Amino acid sequence: MCPASLPENRTTLTPDTPVQYLKGVGPKLAQRFEKLGIRTLADLLEHYPRRYLDFTHPYPPSEAPVGVECVVRAELLSKQGGRYVTGGRRVEKATAGDDVATLELTWFNNPYTIQKLEVGQEYFFEGEVTGGLLRRQMVNPQVRTAAQVQAAPLAAIYPQTEGLTSSAISRCVAQLLPHAELLGDPLPPALLQKYRMPGKAQAVRDIHAPSSPEAAQEARRRLIFEELLVLQLGMGQMKNRGSASTGAPMRRIDPAPFWASLPFSPTGAQRRAVDEILEDMAGTESMNRLLQGDVGSGKTLVAAAALWAAIGAGYQGALLAPTELLAEQHAENLNRMLAKFGIRVALLTGGLKAAARRTTLAAIRSGEADLVVGTHAILSEGVEFARLGLAVIDEQHRFGVRQRGALAEKGCAPHLLVMSATPIPRTLGLLIYGDLDISILDELPPGRRPVKTRVMTGARRKDLYGFLDREIGAGRQVYIVCPAIEEGPDASLTPVKTYYEQTAKALLPNRRVGLMHGKLKPKEKAAVMEDFRTGQLDALVSTTVIEVGVDVPNATVMVIENAERYGLSALHQLRGRVGRGAAESWCFLVSDNEAESVRSRLKFLCSTTDGFAVAQYDLETRGPGDFFGSRQHGLPALQIADLANDTATLHAAQSEAAALLDKDPLLTAPEHALLAQQVNRMFERTGPMN
Ligand code: ADP
Ligand code: MG
Repeated sequence: MCPASLPENRTTLTPDTPVQYLKGVGPKLAQRFEKLGIRTLADLLEHYPRRYLDFTHPYPPSEAPVGVECVVRAELLSKQGGRYVTGGRRVEKATAGDDVATLELTWFNNPYTIQKLEVGQEYFFEGEVTGGLLRRQMVNPQVRTAAQVQAAPLAAIYPQTEGLTSSAISRCVAQLLPHAELLGDPLPPALLQKYRMPGKAQAVRDIHAPSSPEAAQEARRRLIFEELLVLQLGMGQMKNRGSASTGAPMRRIDPAPFWASLPFSPTGAQRRAVDEILEDMAGTESMNRLLQGDVGSGKTLVAAAALWAAIGAGYQGALLAPTELLAEQHAENLNRMLAKFGIRVALLTGGLKAAARRTTLAAIRSGEADLVVGTHAILSEGVEFARLGLAVIDEQHRFGVRQRGALAEKGCAPHLLVMSATPIPRTLGLLIYGDLDISILDELPPGRRPVKTRVMTGARRKDLYGFLDREIGAGRQVYIVCPAIEEGPDASLTPVKTYYEQTAKALLPNRRVGLMHGKLKPKEKAAVMEDFRTGQLDALVSTTVIEVGVDVPNATVMVIENAERYGLSALHQLRGRVGRGAAESWCFLVSDNEAESVRSRLKFLCSTTDGFAVAQYDLETRGPGDFFGSRQHGLPALQIADLANDTATLHAAQSEAAALLDKDPLLTAPEHALLAQQVNRMFERTGPMN
């Protein structure tokens, strides 16, 4: 563990110095740090505490709450000598207390702490209190003197990992704090002045070891501002890069012939979105547009119209889907809509055999393939387009921001359309997708009836299956979704295969039931899906691999087992798989969880089919951590800012970022070097697609 001072030759310290440089950090500890995403000294200094333990309000031993970490103030009454116990561990014991109660203290393998303590002195002990009223105990407490508490009244608590406790992190950070200047200050002095914020080194010291709650608050405000500014700079640069002059100039195209070729008319919202897209593509800059539309609003059709136009203008188009399943479905749908115009559609997925892949790649390179549909395999090296003019990314939230950039680099600045079915509350959307223009499909195709949604317990599963059987008898199809798990220790959950054998097949003995899960080979998945689409299967038991985008209009019932395990937005997506035809559709949320919060969450979903309302509710009740934490928006992970609650700062950061980029679009000015570095660090942290 880290002692409190640094090695002597500190001239070599840089932000990139590995944490192993610290005293007491060997390869093992370094590995644990790595689990927290901490590799360098800068990473460690920017690993901010989650909260603080307040030493200014200690408990007397008799009132300390059991089972939580807290601070107890007491006099040291006696020290019992150390001894060894089985397993070779050394144990030291001491007793502290006041007139009312005592606290028994135990340390394992730590003879140093107790050596420094004096009987008769008062100390502050920090740790988790265990035991009953009469026998309170603390194991491995941190100890502070009154003088130490006065100097540092708040103790930082860090997100920890196995084998790396918050206090071990504290000690390593403490070694580094005298050297906080090594980070430099990315924020221009003018901004510090304008918003009255402390400098970086000051803020870093105050957030790790604040002298008062106010100092911690100020530090936090400054660091949040910095993080959001860096985020907005990154997004802004992405947009600027995109809006370089386009490599695919086209004239304004009239969509009428495409609309006329369809068996139905487009909705007003679809027409508007396509007009906006065609307008963009006729401009001199390349398009960077987000198409947001609730599940079932018909985004694919908008993409088809845009691709039709770009290909008609002499370019190639590409469409990226998050899964092979969706890529195949899109290829089929687009082929149906576009083949009559002589457009040649190629499918490129990771599952292709080498020979087929070679032929496809050659067709893409020669321009023989007009439209390439695929997974992120399209982004891999070796895929060259003859003249890529428009790239469409479906279900954008599965892709990292960086991947959008990679795609843009495949052609000479092609137009970009990203489609997302995850509605985010509007005000936030504009800020988060600050790098994109937005079209919204706020109208469902005509004749849709809202999906009737019900919550039920597993006790009524037999009745439910009776209902499924009748629907199937009427010529409909049904989905049954189970959590994706293997045989495992959690006995409350049934593995999907067991559920398929013992529940679904048993309760639908005369029906054709299929099974789909993530472990199937792409070919097998495609075959099962094909059987379901063509009506060879009546029911499909599946994990959430079907969550995104699958379109089978004849399916009218969605059953979701263990519904409490999903966020509302995910449930809403699943529900969106039904209600795609004119028939009445149903969604059953099965859950035995009795918790009030779970019940009211599921009930809320029964009361609305508006994806924006669902997202708002999710955001408010599950908190922004859940909402944004899963990276479903493809944004970089943030260390300290909270997009839902720090909106005022986000606004300020956005306008300052715009002003900065106005003056220095590429952040090449020497005074912006550190900012540019921070932007790179943040966007490198964005993980690959999951
Ligand atoms: P999503 O926006 O969820 O991707 P899809 O593009 O999969 O929605 O479309 C959902 C369904 O609605 C598809 O079956 C599609 O053929 C149908 N659809 C789309 N637009 C219209 C329209 N204007 N009129 C009738 N049906 C439509
Ligand atoms: Mg879709």
